[in-house]
Amino acid sequence: TDLRAVNVTKVLREILPIIKNEALLHNIDVFFEKSVSPLPVVIADGEMLKQVFLNLCKNAIEAMKQGGLLTIRLATMVSERKLRVEIIDSGTGIPDDVREKIFEPFFTTKENGTGLGLPICRQILLELGGTIEPDSSESGTTMRVYLPLGMKPE
Ligand code: ADP
Ligand code: MG
Repeated sequence: TDLRAVNVTKVLREILPIIKNEALLHNIDVFFEKSVSPLPVVIADGEMLKQVFLNLCKNAIEAMKQGGLLTIRLATMVSERKLRVEIIDSGTGIPDDVREKIFEPFFTTKENGTGLGLPICRQILLELGGTIEPDSSESGTTMRVYLPLGMKPE
């Protein structure tokens, strides 16, 4: 791991083309929304952060077989010294009996799933002092990632 001040807007912008490309193939519209001031900087390894957001977007896309909406929303919560990234899909949602297992290594409901995406996300976030909170209903799933706000880069 290579920890440094990372601008999360930049991280998301770098993976956006990959996500949009994949989404396009599945009839999914992608929106990137941000309301961030001050700079959304965290102390992290940029490559690991990319892995987290790519995994979450991949899951979101895989939950929308009939197309839909994927929203990536970034906000800084200054008073709580946190940054929040929401990955919001309009997919199948996560049934209650499944929800309690989604962070278990090798748990998958997919024919060709590895069941490693979410455990890896959670492990990476743990190392960065962050958390991940799923919020799901029949109209879709929101994965909320929280990270401690870091200092401005030099
Ligand atoms: P995999 O994607 O290989 O199955 P993950 O660890 O990424 O493994 O996810 C575990 C399980 O959590 C998935 O198989 C799926 O059942 C559920 N899941 C994760 N994200 C979503 C989502 N956005 N919508 C619906 N189900 C989800
Ligand atoms: Mg996955």
